[in-house]
Amino acid sequence: MTRHDISRRDFIRWAVAVPASLSFTEGFFGKLSAALQDAVKEYPIIWLQASTCSGCSVSVINTIHPSIKNVILEQVLPGNKLTLNYHGTLMAATGRLSVQAARDAVAKHKGKYVFVMEGAIPTKEKGVYGCIGEENDKPISMLEWVEFFGKDAMAALTVGTCAAYGGFPAGEPNPSGSIGLTEAFNMLKFSTPIINIPGCPCHPDWFIGTVAKILLYGMPKPKELDEYGRLKLFFNRSVHSRCINRDYLDDGIFASKFGEEGCLLELGCKGPFTYADCPIRLWNGSVNWCINAGAPCIGCTEKGFPDAHSPIYQRR
Ligand code: SF4
Ligand code: SF4
Repeated sequence: MTRHDISRRDFIRWAVAVPASLSFTEGFFGKLSAALQDAVKEYPIIWLQASTCSGCSVSVINTIHPSIKNVILEQVLPGNKLTLNYHGTLMAATGRLSVQAARDAVAKHKGKYVFVMEGAIPTKEKGVYGCIGEENDKPISMLEWVEFFGKDAMAALTVGTCAAYGGFPAGEPNPSGSIGLTEAFNMLKFSTPIINIPGCPCHPDWFIGTVAKILLYGMPKPKELDEYGRLKLFFNRSVHSRCINRDYLDDGIFASKFGEEGCLLELGCKGPFTYADCPIRLWNGSVNWCINAGAPCIGCTEKGFPDAHSPIYQRR
């Protein structure tokens, strides 16, 4: 892996703590972004969008660390000095050119690229419900792209719950037969390692932290992942365990309608069954998060979301 001068200890402090309250300076982020810049030259990123609303791409681009964002963006901007890779929304190429860019990127970086998957994968009727581009006048299904990109990747990351476990496109009655990447790889008999970064959308820190960890320190060991393939760094504790409303719960004060003071359990809060560090990481540049804004946690980082958590606003 790439040489760099960020200690694992500093990296983990950054990853697990609340970014806004840390004493990390721009110097740290400068070093992190320089290390990432070197690493992505060696291990480029190829990003496939399948059945997605693109919200995870938008979320990741909204990171509050601009220098790190640039490292990711420069991967897909045309004419940059880094390798031209692939991202359906951000890259300039369209049509045949974009299909060719995908083919070229894989040929050039076989076995050395990180495959990022956004969105679920339709599989019914040979994947005809979702296609990107054509070859020999035939549409290329998203499933075929997953096979093409997944086969020779060094590792795969799923961005968001749809890519990880199927999410909304896989909700009942799931007419397109949509599935998440782990299921797709099992179907294709691929052994490419996968790390899931769920969320609807996924938090930019979760994505950048996972990419940085792989590029700087190698693939996580099995004990660093939970049973759903998520990095414990971000997903080891329930939302409920650090919720600001715990005192209300302990005192038996429950909100019975939105806007009322109290724990949101009776309004369907799934915090007790949901694992993510939202209460300390916060969202939108560390400004706020669901429960502090008066909305129950809907369990967006969990396998089975949204069906397993429906009706969303009823107590489970
Ligand atoms: S609002 Fe939700 S997460 Fe917070 S204490 Fe109540 S049940 Fe737990
Ligand atoms: S609090 Fe719950 S619903 Fe909100 S982002 Fe975190 S995991 Fe998702």
